[in-house]
Amino acid sequence: MAPLPPGSTIGIVGGGQLGRMLATAAARLGYRTIVLEPQGDCPAAQLCNRQIVAAYDDAFALAELARDSDVVTYEFENVPVEAANMLVADVPVLPPPAALEVSQDRLAEKNFLNGIGLSTAPFRRVDSGDELAAALAGFDGNGVLKKRRLGYDGKGQRLFRNAAPVEAANAFAQMGGVSLILEGFVSFEREISVVAARGADGALAAFDSAENVHRDGILRTSTVPARIPAKTAQAAREAAFAILQALDYVGVIGVEFFVLADGSVLVNEIAPRVHNSGHWTEAACAVSQFEQHIRAIAGLPLGDPRRHSDCVM
Ligand code: AMP
Repeated sequence: MAPLPPGSTIGIVGGGQLGRMLATAAARLGYRTIVLEPQGDCPAAQLCNRQIVAAYDDAFALAELARDSDVVTYEFENVPVEAANMLVADVPVLPPPAALEVSQDRLAEKNFLNGIGLSTAPFRRVDSGDELAAALAGFDGNGVLKKRRLGYDGKGQRLFRNAAPVEAANAFAQMGGVSLILEGFVSFEREISVVAARGADGALAAFDSAENVHRDGILRTSTVPARIPAKTAQAAREAAFAILQALDYVGVIGVEFFVLADGSVLVNEIAPRVHNSGHWTEAACAVSQFEQHIRAIAGLPLGDPRRHSDCVM
């Protein structure tokens, strides 16, 4: 892919804070941006060249975005896959929509990760109270029950410790009767994330692992450097690279890990976008995750991800 010349237009689906920071990075590199976002005067509106105010799956709006953009990207993983496929017919969409499919469904995500040889928490598909009871029994009554779709920041989750089977039928109903997965409870030592990128030329780059602390399912702090041995950092980086290559990915990805007491890592989840645990790169690296993402999807060489300072976000 030839680099997009300055003055080209990047379409962004989603106009929240991440869209705002992507639009800013694009402007610094000389690109124009159009944001598709149903909420008028959204966070990105102030910093993009144009906002199309319409639903993410509005066919006319998507056609307009495709017509007026040289490449389209997105700032959140719940962009409807049908919308991404509609766009792809007319304009390059990066990261590729396959990354959306994998990350929108926790079951597909776990199967994908294990399929490329990465380790995750053990998991069971759960589509009824009986299946939940059986799955819980298999994990000795301990586990984290999660909605397969549309859960984030710990929403749509329930923790079980030494649960009796009778809890299962109620729990399934309380989660709304939707398709779920039960994960075995992981006694992790800490949580880290890797924000990594793959360029249009296949080049790979990763920012340093951040150590993340969540409270009530929400990220509270990210600290770099993470308190992990070099071999753990390397394993996490290599896992992120394997994911990028398997998806033929172009752009920035966020990969969250559990670090176990022996220093090994399990992949928790992937986000096919710039990541909330990567904001520190704006302050502590020459090239931020936002510029890195724009560079990748515009076909520019990736920037050097080296960290020049320690950082707490
Ligand atoms: P998630 O939305 O899947 O990232 O989960 C939110 C947070 O819940 C994670 O960052 C962990 O702190 C915790 N958590 C999720 N899954 C598990 C698990 N299988 N075992 C232990 N803790 C978990």
